Amino acid sequence: MPTTVWLDGQWLDRDSAAVSVFDHGLLYGDGVFEGIRVYGGAAFRLQEHLERLYDSAQAIWLTIPMPIGEMTALTEEAVRRSGLDDAYIRHIITRGVGDLGLDPRKCPAPTVIIIVDGIRLWPAEVYERGLRVVTAGTPIPHREALSPRVKSLNYLPHILAKIEGIHAGADEVLMLDSGGSVAEGSGQNLFVVKKGILRTPPASAGILKGVTRDVVLELARDAGLPAEEVPLNRYDVYTADEAFFSGTAAEIVYIREVDGRVIGSGNAGTVTRDLARRFQQLVRPAAPRR
Ligand code: PMP
Repeated sequence: MPTTVWLDGQWLDRDSAAVSVFDHGLLYGDGVFEGIRVYGGAAFRLQEHLERLYDSAQAIWLTIPMPIGEMTALTEEAVRRSGLDDAYIRHIITRGVGDLGLDPRKCPAPTVIIIVDGIRLWPAEVYERGLRVVTAGTPIPHREALSPRVKSLNYLPHILAKIEGIHAGADEVLMLDSGGSVAEGSGQNLFVVKKGILRTPPASAGILKGVTRDVVLELARDAGLPAEEVPLNRYDVYTADEAFFSGTAAEIVYIREVDGRVIGSGNAGTVTRDLARRFQQLVRPAAPRR
């Protein structure tokens, strides 16, 4: 798959795109990012994703050196140049190139990167049989330390949780907050269904407020399905009739098992299947219905 990269004013390919070892994004994780899907050659929910990117930057005192309108046009051009119909866009804005101290004043200009490439989280059979999930011991960062609403380059807690899942032989992990409430997956938001009611933790739980999560809540509204944003604990997940993750890369993927408890029948439930079908109709309207 051809990769298209915009790096500080230049169009590059995968092999020639490289950043300085003095970039504070690399040295300190000082930066923000975004992940967006391309369906049928168009970036899905581009505006919402870019607003989150600019809000993330604002929250860490980082000024993206172009207005959002220019970033929108640049992103569309990156997709056009890639020639890809079904792809994934990654925006990365770092504090820029500085020296070995962490003082951001040493970084005169942010580094702006846009990558268009492919992404696949799990093989097709995992989507078919449902995810096996374990709860990770590593909690999401405390929201008063670094707000999980900021999509920052500090993903270590989520990566450590993911590694715990890999060691346990699971497909994905369930992350809790430091108080023990259910938060999210390593890169997805969680939904459960109980007696026909869809539930997901509220944004105030310290989760990343996923764009796909918002889409799922819209689809639920369209379907007349009652939905609540309420705190959840592990008991609510273990005893749910259905559970699934949502995310830009994951789309909607049902959860078969959490910590050894089979959720519902162990197959994708009717609500999950209906929402997944509505989601596919929205993003791939021309594709045959599953
Ligand atoms: N939580 C985390 C920690 C994530 O990294 C992501 C992926 N961006 C999500 C949730 C899902 O968000 P979205 O639907 O916007 O991709």
